Amino acid sequence: MFDTLSDRLAATFKSLRGKGRLSEQDIDATCREIRIALLEADVALPAVRQFVAAVKQRSLGAEVSQALNPAQQVVKIVNEELISILGGQTRRIRFAKRPPTVIMLAGLQGSGKTTLAGKLGHWLKGQGHSPLLVAADLQRPNAVTQLQVVGERAGVAVFAPEPGNATGRTPTDGHSGDPIKVARDSLQHARDKMYDVVVVDTAGRLGIDAELMRQAADIRDAVGPDEILFVVDAMIGQDAVATAQAFLDGVGFDGVVLTKLDGDARGGAALSVAQMTGRQVMFASNGEKLDDFDVFHPDRMASRILG
Ligand code: GDP
Repeated sequence: MFDTLSDRLAATFKSLRGKGRLSEQDIDATCREIRIALLEADVALPAVRQFVAAVKQRSLGAEVSQALNPAQQVVKIVNEELISILGGQTRRIRFAKRPPTVIMLAGLQGSGKTTLAGKLGHWLKGQGHSPLLVAADLQRPNAVTQLQVVGERAGVAVFAPEPGNATGRTPTDGHSGDPIKVARDSLQHARDKMYDVVVVDTAGRLGIDAELMRQAADIRDAVGPDEILFVVDAMIGQDAVATAQAFLDGVGFDGVVLTKLDGDARGGAALSVAQMTGRQVMFASNGEKLDDFDVFHPDRMASRILG
């Protein structure tokens, strides 16, 4: 992902090389190229506008530097603006003063929440925590079983409703019941068994759905999460921003997790989510294996894009 964007930007900077001084026309032409590169990569238009305006203003006002030639100076400015659009500093999980820390996952179906729950559990374990994954997605057939499989693979405990514990909902994979009760009960279970981080997987639909949004908000109110993470598939293109906004309005979230960064889509929309929602990307997922996951570092991503 982002290969085309990297190539485009590299070509733009190449055309500046060897110039002793950049005229306003040079800077305008460069900004036009950067604008096209970002739009082609699917970055949302308002984010592109803001980005290009900042680069232009800073490039025009850039002091003559002894250390950097004008082309290098523009690259430095673009790098800093990229880091800024990606959220600036690395944002870490805020753990609760009194455990358990509750992390709730929200996002569309297929965005990668259940897979992420396993990865997050695995990662938390590696950090010396004792996580518990909670199956509060009782909507999607097999979601509970999938979380149990993922938990087993990660060596992380899973709290799930008893199979066949029907409370009026249609059983899907033998698990049924009230996801809000499951989420609430999981906290007591975590306290009893000394799990210090609870990761709550919630249901999502293929599109934004008022009932599901309400359910997620009810789960939120029942467990009082320390962190709500909005999980978004970087392959969904421009829909990422609208979806993020809908979840921000419907449930609210504290941080973003980008998934499927290993895909070959342009992915720029996902890069706009932080800027458009004011919430930082905290983790990135780039594959189906447990280890294909890491804390998101805006500076490293900017370096990767700039090649
Ligand atoms: P959920 O509906 O949000 O719980 O999504 P799932 O966790 O079931 O993921 C949907 C699909 O995406 C599954 O086939 C996962 O294996 C796949 N998936 C999840 N994360 C990634 C990722 O980072 N990269 C790739 N290539 N596939 C992923």
